[in-house]
Amino acid sequence: MGRTVVVLGGGISGLAASYHLSRAPCPPKVVLVEGSERLGGWIRSVRGPNGAIFELGPRGIRPAGALGARTLLLVSELGLDSEVLPVRGDHPAAQNRFLYVGGALHALPTGLRGLLRPSPPFSKPLFWAGLRELTKPRGKEPDETVHSFAQRRLGPEVASLAMDSLCRGVFAGNSRELSIRSCFPSLFQAEQTHRSVLLGLLLGAGRTPQPDSALIRQALAERWSQWSLRGGLEMLPQALETHLTSRGVSVLRGQPVCGLSLQAEGRWKVSLRDSSLEADHVISAIPASVLSELLPAEAAPLARALSAITAVSVAVVNLQYRGAHLPVQGFGHLVPSSEDPGVLGIVYDSVAFPEQDGSPPGLRVTVMLGGSWLQTLEASGCVLSQELFQQRAQEAAATQLGLKELPSHCLVHLHKNSIPQYTLGHWQKLEAARQFLAAHRLPLTLAGASYEGVAVNDCIESGRQAAVSVLGTEPNG
Ligand SMILES: Cc1cc2nc3c(=O)[nH]c(=O)nc-3n(C[C@H](O)[C@H](O)[C@H](O)COP(=O)(O)OP(=O)(O)OC[C@H]3O[C@@H](n4cnc5c(N)ncnc54)[C@H](O)[C@@H]3O)c2cc1C
Repeated sequence: MGRTVVVLGGGISGLAASYHLSRAPCPPKVVLVEGSERLGGWIRSVRGPNGAIFELGPRGIRPAGALGARTLLLVSELGLDSEVLPVRGDHPAAQNRFLYVGGALHALPTGLRGLLRPSPPFSKPLFWAGLRELTKPRGKEPDETVHSFAQRRLGPEVASLAMDSLCRGVFAGNSRELSIRSCFPSLFQAEQTHRSVLLGLLLGAGRTPQPDSALIRQALAERWSQWSLRGGLEMLPQALETHLTSRGVSVLRGQPVCGLSLQAEGRWKVSLRDSSLEADHVISAIPASVLSELLPAEAAPLARALSAITAVSVAVVNLQYRGAHLPVQGFGHLVPSSEDPGVLGIVYDSVAFPEQDGSPPGLRVTVMLGGSWLQTLEASGCVLSQELFQQRAQEAAATQLGLKELPSHCLVHLHKNSIPQYTLGHWQKLEAARQFLAAHRLPLTLAGASYEGVAVNDCIESGRQAAVSVLGTEPNG
């Protein structure tokens, strides 16, 4: 009898793991178990009344690097090339990003000339922060918060304006709590290897082999900064599901896993609401803290390490305006915590992807709310109403972008515990989990946003890596 692999969680990580398992020359029997009624996890695209696309989760995927290229290869394998909407290097959404500080939008400097010029809100040209960085000694700690790292190397302004905003934009998190080693491993490694972050980034970490395809070559030639799909990013999980079904993978929806227990023969019993599955191996692509509650008593040390990987909530407010115009053209702007504890930033969706504006077209922006404002609200136990988020978002769009009229369409979603937080010492939790799994030879592999990267590319790679480790070899066509 062939091996059975059960994959927990039908977000992009679990879908990618199942995809790569199903393409092995001699694939195991694969069962993908999803707790909700739909696949895709946080990737969700909704159509508005005028046909416009509203992304409730991710809205753009970066093509850069080996992981970006692998995702583009996956897109081609799924036959989605003609659906790709690229943001080319010469487009304003690729070139312009803004910070909202002191009640005004400030363009982030680009290129050498930009670094040499005074660039408010920074008091001096960023060139000086770069020069200072080159002279700083290497840090000695095994980990450090993003804020402390940036302050030590680049100075207090870069730390409290740029890195604070970046942590809010990527992780909806606090730079004074997040780990540089786990959140921005390339910066951490650059310092370790070259003593200077700038030198390390300039000299590069050496070329990682990259897959090749017509789409990847196009992305490189046109210097894409990001891409989406015509019908929204949810087309990706949908195409994966179609592929999995055609390859004989069993996809169970609406079946939350309620427990995992080890059988005498070293197999897993995966308990569902009214039934159970037997598995030779389990790939978990559900959040670490959820998995920690499903593990059997024998795995208590693993459960402890996983339960310490927490996540924060984000409220996503999609707004569409008829006949409105933005004051600037770019990808969007970020807001440092000192400026506003609740508004993380606003993405100018229409600038990057005007093809998704619907007919008649309307200006789409997305306001991301979170940070200490949302954490305090959640902790207070008060009712978090749609109206509260809508009002906060409309105020932000009015004050920060001059969009004072009422939106023609508005969607509000509170994504509870949606972004894992790699806080200081995150690497130790991963190490503890790895050591436990190895020492006890548990047939369990971890994948997903809880561990080594929250971006869609990272999640897809974590699923691929999980499949590789289960198969013991690279899967292929
Ligand atoms: C608002 C927002 C904006 C983002 N923007 C971007 C962006 O622009 N670009 C980018 O690259 N990334 C972005 N991200 C990050 C990225 O989208 C996520 O990190 C990624 O989609 C997570 O995928 P995942 O499969 O690891 O987890 P999830 O999407 O969380 O999937 C886990 C799945 O497991 C299921 N599950 C949970 N418990 C159980 C159980 N007990 N039994 C069975 N199933 C269970 C869940 O229902 C879910 O479907 C964004 C994230 C959010 C929330």
